[in-house]
Parts: sequence; structure tokens; C-alpha cells
Amino acid sequence: MKYVIVSGGVVSGLGKGVTISSLGRMLRGCGLRVTSIKIDPYLNVDAGTMSPFEHGEVFVLGDGGESDLDLGNYERFLDIQLTSEHNITTGKIYREVISRERRGDYLGKTVQVVPHITNEIQDWIERVAKVPVDDSGEEADVCLIEVGGTVGDIESSIFFEALRQFQFRVGYENFCLMFVSLVPILSDEQKTKPTQHGVKSLMSLGLSPKVIFCRCPLPLEQACKNKISAFCHVPSDNVISVHDVNNVYHVPLLLMQQNLHRIIAKELNLEAKMQIENPDMKKWSDMAHSVDGFTESVKIALIGKYNGLQDAYLSIIKSLKHASIACERKLDLVWVEASQLESSDNEEYESNWEKIKTADGVIVPGGFGTRGFNGKCIAAEYCRKNKKPYLGICLGFQAMVVEYARNVIGWDDANSAEFDESTAHPVIVFMPEIDKETMGGNMRLGARNTKFTHKHDDGSMATAQIMYDCAEIVSERHRHRYEVNPEVVDTVHDAGLKFVGRDETGERMEVAELPRSQHPYYVGCQYHPEFKSRPLRPSPPFYGLLLASIGKLDEFIAENHA
Ligand code: GLN
Repeated sequence: MKYVIVSGGVVSGLGKGVTISSLGRMLRGCGLRVTSIKIDPYLNVDAGTMSPFEHGEVFVLGDGGESDLDLGNYERFLDIQLTSEHNITTGKIYREVISRERRGDYLGKTVQVVPHITNEIQDWIERVAKVPVDDSGEEADVCLIEVGGTVGDIESSIFFEALRQFQFRVGYENFCLMFVSLVPILSDEQKTKPTQHGVKSLMSLGLSPKVIFCRCPLPLEQACKNKISAFCHVPSDNVISVHDVNNVYHVPLLLMQQNLHRIIAKELNLEAKMQIENPDMKKWSDMAHSVDGFTESVKIALIGKYNGLQDAYLSIIKSLKHASIACERKLDLVWVEASQLESSDNEEYESNWEKIKTADGVIVPGGFGTRGFNGKCIAAEYCRKNKKPYLGICLGFQAMVVEYARNVIGWDDANSAEFDESTAHPVIVFMPEIDKETMGGNMRLGARNTKFTHKHDDGSMATAQIMYDCAEIVSERHRHRYEVNPEVVDTVHDAGLKFVGRDETGERMEVAELPRSQHPYYVGCQYHPEFKSRPLRPSPPFYGLLLASIGKLDEFIAENHA
């Protein structure tokens, strides 16, 4: 196994995740199998209990792991499926060591940060790197490891110490350290000092990078590369310019243009294994370039809670992008704060409704907590009545059901028990198997099957099912505590909101829609399809939304489903 370790310095938010995913994409193009591990030096066991408005979205993995959003970047760019173990946190490592100590595994010994914690980190990396992550079912050739945070942080120091030891454990020729830095431009001059300081801190930990990525608004000048080379102990060819490009899909190509694949082949002794001369990047490169050329756009209103951090909805935005690429449109995403749709006594009321009215399609993503829930229901009602394409995900699906119960069935007080426990019409209820006492990792999480069984009255197949290539069973990821109340399923279904997809027992509702004879696209799913979308393979419900939004869904269905 070859290890490529990437850490960052100077500031956070440099796009380390995108750089590493792009590096991985490039290696995939050279014929290597690639896996990845993200190290997060915080004490939370996983990201499940962390606020998306502070840390960005909680990414859900197939095995139900709730992880840092960077694992989503890796899955999308590398087209792999990771597990909860691929996200190492300080919390997980300490929990493991402490439970061993309690079991008596270290009997007689003093349990210490060095060597017990550092050994546990190294064992963990070696074990998880071997887990197959792509369809081949085989072990990867290269394991990318991202160390979260910035070099010099107190909390990440133990991981750097473990990695310092690790280079001897696995051998120097199997270990390649890289550093992502920032080169700011002041008075037209590209400044190298922050990079010099970052690399110095890394060296003081006994680690010396072989490649330095420099984030810069403009391409790095040769003089700047030379200076970094001189001060940071790397050849100037190994100083890679990661400047701003038209879209992120260009980054793998940008790295390749600077011969990063050759550098890695040499450093890690991979020349014989890699397709260096004719890498397979054509589809990817065509996509990256096509995105630059789109002239028409599609406007989608995203109705959620907004506080300035777009990362809170990262996978949703990526999925909309993937689907818009397949539709050959620029994505014009407009944000709507759900709570401001509720009553006209706030200043933004009119402008938010204007955004919805002028959008080609609407998406209501998942969420927790009562703020804005009624706004989401009113938006669902508006889209239903005005034939505006709508996709509801998780809470957005639950809002469709609540709205339908209130306005079509006539249960004025219908609600989710999450927001009103005493309503006479709880159409969304707490799932019986969920434990109310604890918070971490106890939702209905991860991949589960949905079965499409329903045919609409006119004999047509459900739109959602058609979008999944007419598959009868699909697997998507979940993260919820509440579900459609089994006692109201028949009433809602018979009233017209059709539950077209259910779990394998038939008791849990997964997908609802209005027949296409009534609405161009009104679809909701309890699961989160956004976690499995890929740049070259958009998620089916998203693709359906976008096609309907540009008025091409019927054409697509006629062509793909005779
Ligand atoms: N809060 C809802 C539930 O727990 C929806 C969750 C979600 O949207 N992820 O069921």
C-alpha cells in the first residue's frame, strides 16, 4: 500500500479537500485504485452531533456513519464508497484505547498517549486502507490521508506524531507527504512567507513534504516557485500551482498539466503500475470543459435555513450541479429562508416569494427543528397548486405529507410529532425503534432498500421509478427519526398523494409523488439521494427535478421508457 498524506497550513478553508479529491481523480485516471481516509482531530466520535451551520453538512455513508463532508468530496470525485472507519477522529481513537484498557488488554501497563494512542492511529490507518471501496472489491493501490485542521494546532499534534512514526513503519518509499498552503498576492507580489512558516512547523514535527500545493488566485510565477523550493527543501517542479479555475472539475487536469502524476509515480515507485502516457481522463475533461460553455441556465430555489454557510447543504448543491450538467444548463441557485415565507410581517417576505415564483423548480432539503417548517409546508402547497417542479427530501418529503393532510384532506391541525406532540393528526411520527434518551448515531441511518410497487391509476409507472431506470429496488441513504404515520398512509394515498416507494416490509413510506397527469414533477423521498450523486452520474430524483424544470422531462421519459 502506498500512502499519500496531505496536511494544510496557514489558514483553514483552503480547499484542501478539493485538492486531495482532484489528486485522487488524477490517480484514478492513471489506472490506480484509490481509497481515502480523513483525520479530524476533534473529540466528537463522529460528526453526527455537530451543527451543520458550524461545520457544514453531516455526510452520511452507506454503513450509516455520520462523517465530515470531505468524505463526500472523495466519494464523488473518486466514485468510491467509504465507511465510517474512513473518518478517524480523536474521539474514536480514545474510545477504542479506553475500552481496551477497561477490558484489561494492557493489564499492568501504564496506558499513554505515546505509544498507545499513536500505535492505535497507525493500526487503524493500516487496517482501514485495506478495505475495498470500489466495485472491483479489491484493495486499493494508494491511500490518500487528509489531516484536518492546520499544522501547529495542539489537537492535531498527536496525529502528526503518529504519522512521523508511520513513515518508518511502512517504509519511506511508500509514504509521500504533501502540504497545501496559501500564497496571497499583496501589491501584485506573490508572497511565500506563510508557506515557509507552514513548512517549518511541519519540519519541526519531523515531517518533510515532498510536494507543496499553493492556493493562489493567479497561476504561480516561476520566481515564486523557485523561492518556495529554496526555502522549503523541495524541487521547484514539486511546487504545484492550484490557482482559481472556472470550475472545480478542472483541478485534476490542472494538477496533471504540472506533471503531478509523474512526480508521484517517481516518489512512490509506481511507474510500472501507472498509465502515465495515456491517462484515461477524457470523459472527465469533456465534462469540465462543457460546463464552461453552457449559455442557458436553470433557476432552482432552495428552501432551507440559511446563515451564510453554503456548506450546510453541500451535497444538495453538488447534486443540483451534477443534474444541471446532464441538462447542459448553468445552475442558478437562489436561497430562500423558509421561516420568512410564513407571514408577511417580515421585510423579506415578498422578495422570498418572488424567488419561488420566478424559479423553474424548487427543492426543500432535509432538516431538524421547528424553525421554518411551516414555511416549507406553504412552499410545498404553492408548488403543488401551481404545478411548479418540486423535490422534497427527508423533512421536505414530510412537509409534503403534512401540507397534503392539512389542505387536501382537511385536517387543519395535521403536523409532525417532531413539532407538535399533542396534535390530533400526527401524520409524521417518531419511529418506534429510535431511542429518545441518547443523541449520537441513533437515527435510522445509512443504506436501505426502497421497493417501487405502485402503478398510477392510468397504468403508468411512477415517475420516481422511471428516473431510476425503472428499477424495482433501489438503495439510498437515510438519516431520520420520524416517519409517515402508518395509520394515515391509506388515507393520504387514497386522497391522491401516492406512496409509490416503500421499504421492504411495505410499512415505511420512502417515496411519494403526484401522478404526471396532475403535476409535471412533485416528488418527495424520505431518504437522502444527494449522498450518492456523481458528477458524471446525477442522482435520479435530482435529474428528474432538473429535467422537469427545463420542460424536458416528458421528452426524456418518452425516449427512455417506451
Ligand atoms: N427531522 C426529521 C426526522 O428526524 C427529518 C430529518 C432529515 O431531514 N434529515 O425525521
